[in-house]
Amino acid sequence: MSILPQNRQSPHPPPTTQTYCLPRQETLGSAPLILMRPPTRIEDLKAKPGVVVCQHCRHLVITETSPENGSCTYLGILALILAGVSSCGCCLLPLCMTSCKDIMHSCPNCQEDIGLYSRIKEKTYPVRRIDDPQEFR
Ligand SMILES: [Zn+2]
Repeated sequence: MSILPQNRQSPHPPPTTQTYCLPRQETLGSAPLILMRPPTRIEDLKAKPGVVVCQHCRHLVITETSPENGSCTYLGILALILAGVSSCGCCLLPLCMTSCKDIMHSCPNCQEDIGLYSRIKEKTYPVRRIDDPQEFR
């Protein structure tokens, strides 16, 4: 005579070793998809606004851009003068052309300058804060 358990059903099912994988390239049809792009390095900013972490206020911001006279502007003026275009003031045309100017990226949160995009070097140079007296002691 043997004693059998009346209910062989285990109250706890064995744990499954199932892994969950998220689809990598999921298309969501026409649904509006708002994705915050990962921040780019300040050095990788171009002439257009970019998403960066502001080095002054540490916020994730989309930079505001403003054209500034730079090396490309003055080289353009010099080239026009050397080409003989100086009588009518046309050699100053690069001063009015945004495509000849460097681009200053600034933070919309703290209004500090973040980086200056150089058209000639095609690179953005981070702007350090110079009004911090602690750095110059
Ligand atoms: Zn800032």
